[in-house]
Amino acid sequence: MIRAVLGAAGLILLGVSLILVRTLTYGAAPQGLNSVVLPSPPEISAEQAASRLSRAIQFRTITYKAGDPVAEAAAPWINMQTWLAEAYPRVHANLEIERVNGYSLLYRWAGTQEPLAPLVFMAHQDVVPVNEGTLEDWTGAPFSGEIIDGYVYGRGALDDKASMIAILEAGEALLETGFQPQRPIYFMFGHDEEVSGAGAAAMVDLLHARGVRAEMVLDEGFFVIEDSPLTGNVFGFIGVAEKGYITLRLTATARGGHSSRPPRNSANVQLARAIIALEENQMPADFSKAPIADLFRAAAEDMDFFTRMAFANRWLFGGFIDAQMAATGADAMLRTTTAPTMLTGSIKENVLPQRATALINFRVHPNDTIDSLMTHVRKVTEHIEGLEITRNEDGGIGSEASPVSPTDGQAYSVLAALARQLGDGAPVGPALVLGATDARWASKISDRVYRFVPARVTMKDTAGFHGTNERMSVTNMKRMSEGYAQIMLAMDGAQ
Ligand SMILES: [Zn+2]
Repeated sequence: MIRAVLGAAGLILLGVSLILVRTLTYGAAPQGLNSVVLPSPPEISAEQAASRLSRAIQFRTITYKAGDPVAEAAAPWINMQTWLAEAYPRVHANLEIERVNGYSLLYRWAGTQEPLAPLVFMAHQDVVPVNEGTLEDWTGAPFSGEIIDGYVYGRGALDDKASMIAILEAGEALLETGFQPQRPIYFMFGHDEEVSGAGAAAMVDLLHARGVRAEMVLDEGFFVIEDSPLTGNVFGFIGVAEKGYITLRLTATARGGHSSRPPRNSANVQLARAIIALEENQMPADFSKAPIADLFRAAAEDMDFFTRMAFANRWLFGGFIDAQMAATGADAMLRTTTAPTMLTGSIKENVLPQRATALINFRVHPNDTIDSLMTHVRKVTEHIEGLEITRNEDGGIGSEASPVSPTDGQAYSVLAALARQLGDGAPVGPALVLGATDARWASKISDRVYRFVPARVTMKDTAGFHGTNERMSVTNMKRMSEGYAQIMLAMDGAQ
């Protein structure tokens, strides 16, 4: 009896020590981060960059559907591009410029050591429309580019004209200093990211056909966040991957008829069963792989003891963390998400439908593939009779999650060092972009595709993505312009 008690006590003690040791040793700054010395950038005026962003916002380069803009509706793109050439004379005199797939812009800055792999900086020219009925809620009108209390307001302020302007500011300022890159540098500004990304896809294909392998591709996706949901503090997120996208159509077929004599298991009921089965059987979350495992580890330095203990001992607390994150939707980082969106059934209140359909939109985690997702969906719903599962053809063919870019090597180290500097020493980690960006095409021309904008924003600011009061601070325009210049210099080997 005593032996058994002692044995149990020993086991508990062992368990507690294991948990403690793991907690105390959890998280360490990624290798190499502190060894990067960022070159100082040319001084770029915040007011100048902000006023140019303001001007760019005033061109209504709005995309509504794939195939926009057609020739007769292309005036905003043409006018904006004419203005860009005037605003950035050195860039437009020194770089080769091609228009691709209509209105996408591909700039090429020749390198003095051409065999070196090039750098690619991406942004997009188009913006989403303003939601009807929200116009009055804007502090500055969405296409006026008003600057109020240190912020530039309008569509494109965050997504993504600020990046386009800041990249051009960086190029113009570096040319003014007489900088000549050793590596070729490309700027790639898509014109239809918000609807299809066909412009960026065509530019990537063009470079691929020309045999280009880029050292690094940088696009939008993440920032340094002032009030990161992960730690509550400043945190630099470097996007190293993005989720895939697929919509499945579930069709339940049953006998129709009059609703006065309803059979059991009508089409609507079968469809509802399928939706609930998918809701209750989510795709698994796996915290053990990149980038999520590395993100949590990076955040550890800023976690309180108990949060850190949970993350350090996921073998024990994994289910708890998952449930906590799922409660706020934050588990989108951890798993393929399942979102039932459109439902159709009967066309009349007293008629039973013969067919009921649901569209389910999935965002595919890099841990999964569209195939593994389809297998999961079939398995979870196999007990439901008369259910058919197909890809929704109207929603495009879908895309797999991107590959996960490495967190070792110079490109990641430079971005992480810059994020750390912007965050005044706050932790930096690799993250997963939940939406789709033009960068999804770029894995064709580089293994090192990153999604990071060198700016500091709040969670409240990020609500401006496709939302109301999209804005960017004047200070951030300086950070971004100088940040892109620092990346160009650092990746070119300057000290
Ligand atoms: Zn965007």
